[in-house]
Amino acid sequence: MIERILTEERRVRERFGLLGGFTTKQMLDNSVITEYRVPVCDVCGCMLTKPQTIICSNEDCGSKQCVNCSVKFESRNYCPDCAREIVRISKTQFIVIYGLACELNPRKIAKLSLLKEEEIFEAIDQLLEQEYLERKGLSVFTQYKLTPRALSIILTCEQIFRRESDVAYFMSEVSKLVDEKKD
Ligand SMILES: [Zn+2]
Ligand SMILES: [Zn+2]
Repeated sequence: MIERILTEERRVRERFGLLGGFTTKQMLDNSVITEYRVPVCDVCGCMLTKPQTIICSNEDCGSKQCVNCSVKFESRNYCPDCAREIVRISKTQFIVIYGLACELNPRKIAKLSLLKEEEIFEAIDQLLEQEYLERKGLSVFTQYKLTPRALSIILTCEQIFRRESDVAYFMSEVSKLVDEKKD
């Protein structure tokens, strides 16, 4: 009698931080099950192929990301969580930095971001303290300028926050305004 070997293939999601692979198991009835562990982005869950897989530079983290989710800081790649730890910038603080970089005043930033003016000024105070901003001029003529330190993190922060819907909304409102100015 010829023994038939049944084979079955299964695809499962690879765990956090692992890069995929497969295991083959022989069952009692002689059937063979091959389980393929498919690597996915630990941030957005999309399927990863080898050349697109980026590992977070923080060795204690070890998560893997797709190109879209990975964040660059000082020519190293990080996952959004580790990048956030490094720059220590909140979402509102980023909105302020981005708005000022596009030459908006704090009131306009509040209006376009749908945040309260108090929230914007609170973020400004924090940014002054962290030396991401400098104050120029007095009272009603006060202007806030980004320091070189702020300019060096702006792209990193954009990569961290751009997927969040309120930030994406604010950035699209700003670009509309910039386009109108051009016309
Ligand atoms: Zn992703
Ligand atoms: Zn990380």
